[in-house]
Amino acid sequence: DVVIRGENVIKEYQTGTQTVRALKGIDFGIRPSDFVAIVGPSGSGKSTLLNLLGLLDVPTEGTVRLRGTDVSTFSDSDRTTKRKHTIGFIFQSFYLIPTLTALENVEMPRMLDKTPVKTRERATDLLQRVGLGDRLDHYPDELSGGQKQRVAIARSLINDPAILLADEPTGNLDRDTGDQILALFDELRAEEDVAVVTVTHDSYVADRADRVVNLVDGDVKNDGEPASGEGDH
Ligand code: ADP
Ligand code: ADP
Repeated sequence: DVVIRGENVIKEYQTGTQTVRALKGIDFGIRPSDFVAIVGPSGSGKSTLLNLLGLLDVPTEGTVRLRGTDVSTFSDSDRTTKRKHTIGFIFQSFYLIPTLTALENVEMPRMLDKTPVKTRERATDLLQRVGLGDRLDHYPDELSGGQKQRVAIARSLINDPAILLADEPTGNLDRDTGDQILALFDELRAEEDVAVVTVTHDSYVADRADRVVNLVDGDVKNDGEPASGEGDH
């Protein structure tokens, strides 16, 4: 029941005549309702790994499989479609559109949807789930930081993703608000089997994860955390 698995994943970037090996042959596996934290110093390959997990990129060598299928065999448009239906993205800055209400922001990824009534129902339901049922018609600058992050999380869930990929999701938030976001992740994992994978510099967040992938210079450093990077447990 692994959603995404990586085997001996190598990722290189070519800049001019220089080759940078950002990931040096790592293994990983993400299962439903996992909570995985990716930690490591700047330049260690965290964003590169997030991009591969998010189907934004493919490995140079090795294999990334989405539910068993090698992602390198997908065309770009297949990969985009799979991404849309498998992955939700949450960033530190929320990228909400200031001229749209909370509800419209959540509906945004499905603006071209053929059944707008269903989209509206789902968006309303999601905003209620994240505790913003009374803020549907508020604009982003009428919302607090934690409320904006919760709108962004609701938006990331509009297509029922199997995996939520987050980059410092509590980075700009105070501890209480961060706790609300972490509690929401726990709820989504328990109730909808959503897997959460987050890059974080905050040990408070990493301590809440059930697996920590510690990257150092493109390798998974085995730091004694349970099954770091292995995905088999
Ligand atoms: P982190 O997110 O941990 O800071 P990154 O995955 O961004 O690490 O980067 C890993 C390595 O790959 C770094 O040496 C970085 O300079 C290099 N790198 C990342 N993206 C690119 C790119 N688009 N072109 C060239 N080198 C890159
Ligand atoms: P929090 O403690 O969650 O960070 P705030 O203290 O920032 O919340 O805001 C408290 C309440 O005031 C929130 O319900 C929010 O919707 C509302 N609010 C915050 N900023 C504005 C604003 N610029 N305009 C209208 N309402 C706001």
